Amino acid sequence: MKLTDVLKKDKLTLSFEVFPPKTETTLEDVLATTQKIAALRPAFVSVTYGAGGGTSRYTLAIAENMYKTTGVPTLAHLTCISSTRQTVAERIADMKAHGIENVMALRGDLTPEQKGSDRSDWDYHHACELVRELKAAGDFCIGGACYPEVHPESVDSREDISHLKEKVDAGCDFLTSQMFFDNSLYYSFLYRVREAGITVPIFPGIMPITSATQIKRAIELSGSFMPHRFLALVDRFGQDPEAMKQAGIAYATDQIIDLYANGVRNVHVYTMNKPDVAAKIMDNLSAILN
Ligand code: FAD
Repeated sequence: MKLTDVLKKDKLTLSFEVFPPKTETTLEDVLATTQKIAALRPAFVSVTYGAGGGTSRYTLAIAENMYKTTGVPTLAHLTCISSTRQTVAERIADMKAHGIENVMALRGDLTPEQKGSDRSDWDYHHACELVRELKAAGDFCIGGACYPEVHPESVDSREDISHLKEKVDAGCDFLTSQMFFDNSLYYSFLYRVREAGITVPIFPGIMPITSATQIKRAIELSGSFMPHRFLALVDRFGQDPEAMKQAGIAYATDQIIDLYANGVRNVHVYTMNKPDVAAKIMDNLSAILN
């Protein structure tokens, strides 16, 4: 099922993100975890590609398994930066063979060595090139990434949004945002992208922080601004795992309620293969989601 059909609903829906395992031996565990996440009946589940320490070759297996066994629509991520055109063509053919209809088209992160190197002869430089190829290759519903706090490689928001417009014009049906912890950053981003003529749905990405160690990793990955209100909570509960988990879930729930109150319909939650966290958030929102 295409996400563009799932997204038409006029009520709050949540989607969740999972990542593939590092090794084949843990594939069964991850499949079991994703089944628990699917049992919560989110609007859709996205499966990352190589990110979060996972292995790219399991992305399709997880996405296909979940859709076929539970009927929950899935979104398979695909990156292009260190791939050849031939590899990407093979991945796209695999996606078609696995019945994948929804693809998140990403560039992928550059390693520190790659950042300084000459990449002029690489086949791909930006996600918009992958979006164009997917659009030409089949009837996919295509997503792209966006950055309310500006992608770290962009000089400023104006430049970042003009590249985002190019990516959407290449064929994105929707965008999902990088995580943020201050909703006002998302609202001002939304204002700027709409002003730039980008009209596709933009799903805010919310990361429930459930342990003090997760914060360091989240900042490294996203460079997100941590508001004082959030840091105070970490100061108070960071040493108490259970309390930190409860407080982090409450903070994410509060962000989602505020987003919905301000007109957002689908919120993407970075559930990080944690069905209990996803379940608790849904439980906190039970009267709103029904
Ligand atoms: P792009 O859209 O190519 O943008 C990257 C940078 O290049 C930006 O600064 C942009 O402004 C600039 N740019 C874009 N087009 C042009 C152009 N034509 N000319 C000049 N500059 C340009 N990584 C993974 O490895 N696997 C995943 O599964 C994964 N999932 C993600 C999901 C979401 C929702 C998000 C937000 C990120 C995800 N990432 C994932 C991380 C992502 O790969 C990195 O953030 C990466 O650095 C940028 O990817 P992008 O697709 O946004 O790239």
